[in-house]
Amino acid sequence: MANHTKKVCTLSYGCQMSERDAETLTAISTENGYERTDRPEDADLIIINTCCVRESAENKIIGKIGQLKSLKENKPTLKIAVAGCMVQQPGIVDKLRKKAPHVDIWTGTFDHHKFEELLRAAEEGKKAAAVSSDVSQTSEVVPMAEKGKLKANVNIMYGCDNYCAYCIVPYVRGRERSRPKEVILNEIRTLAENGCREVTLLGQNVNSYGKKDYYGYDFADLLKEVDKIDGLFRIRFTTSHPKDLSDKLIATVAEGEKICEHFHFPFQAGSNKILKAMNRKYTREYYLERVERILKEIPEARITTDIIVGFPGETEEDFEQTLDLVKTVHFSQAFTFMFSKRSGTVAASLPDQVPLEVKKYRLQRLIELQNDRSLAWRQKMLNKSYEILVEGPSKTNPEQLTGRTRGNEVVVFKGDPNLVGSLVSVKMVSANSWTLFGEKNS
Ligand code: SAH
Ligand code: SF4
Repeated sequence: MANHTKKVCTLSYGCQMSERDAETLTAISTENGYERTDRPEDADLIIINTCCVRESAENKIIGKIGQLKSLKENKPTLKIAVAGCMVQQPGIVDKLRKKAPHVDIWTGTFDHHKFEELLRAAEEGKKAAAVSSDVSQTSEVVPMAEKGKLKANVNIMYGCDNYCAYCIVPYVRGRERSRPKEVILNEIRTLAENGCREVTLLGQNVNSYGKKDYYGYDFADLLKEVDKIDGLFRIRFTTSHPKDLSDKLIATVAEGEKICEHFHFPFQAGSNKILKAMNRKYTREYYLERVERILKEIPEARITTDIIVGFPGETEEDFEQTLDLVKTVHFSQAFTFMFSKRSGTVAASLPDQVPLEVKKYRLQRLIELQNDRSLAWRQKMLNKSYEILVEGPSKTNPEQLTGRTRGNEVVVFKGDPNLVGSLVSVKMVSANSWTLFGEKNS
């Protein structure tokens, strides 16, 4: 075929870190002659960047890989690459290879620097795999995010050392390591020069940035420097582990100009017994004290959270303490999950696993409560004006625009598409649990 430009379509699952990895793999592909497409049926290369934090995510991805078989039968030149956390689990590639012989490339979370080589091998018709477990071999291959993007994710650290009893992340992403501050600052400066207006600094536990690697320079120090970068409008960060949220960080957010007053602050469970069994290293009382401190310093702060129901040994009484905490702290949003057994984690082999039906019932009650709380939160914002960074047309109402407040609430309003990329003032007029609807102030 003459002049056919090869196309790459990337499907990413899981957290923002996974999304960032997907961008890296896509950028390596574009550097190797591929053009981006959103349509799998137009692609010559499909990259599936996987997540394994819960079994449900894994099942969804395995289903997706299965679906691609017929696409490949129709287009035998199509190459399929499966990357990321799911692939990183011991023994999984051997298992999946048998189920999915149509996959050409398998690659883990430590092997981005080998992706170009894997791609070449696949283009020559070979099956290629690289899944190393030695983190020390990871090289920093972080091609820039797509140029001209309004919002970008920036890794400030990799891995995690916390070993929460339910969590597979430390096993598939390795030990905690912070990227040097100059590398981070240069990446953000380049992003800003290319039109990026909002960066999200990513780490499993941003509050421990630098503790291991750069004694004396911490996350608050880093935030202060990012705040000075010209061109940026907003700085976000996630995730804040309660055990490491310092007064200095709270003060830095309070004083920062571009640092958004939003803390994603997962509490996971409301009962001290369960928190201990989860190895979270804080108590309910400590969590509440930290929230109080945030709100004392920054009364307008938004706090969002993650919550797990049905951790092994969780009784109805323990669960009620979770509900009680949701009633005590007014979270603007919460991500709620049923405990999922992850092989190799401590919690997978704990006694007193909670039956699925009980987990489902608890989750439903928790969601109902938080939906009411999220709605009440947004209703409190009605008739007031907020600064919105305009992101683009709304997905649900394409003739309207969407953007977010500094507190990360999603807002839909009527406006000129030329406003995309700018800050505007919008007055809130109505709300549901997830979205605010407003009118732009002239
Ligand atoms: N580093 C972040 C969380 C990363 S994982 C933190 O410590 O807060 C994102 C969320 O997935 C977690 O906060 C937790 O609520 C959920 N999660 C992780 N492992 C899980 C499991 N095995 N079952 C259910 N939810 C889980
Ligand atoms: Fe998982 Fe805990 Fe690390 Fe978060 S802090 S990634 S929940 S082990």
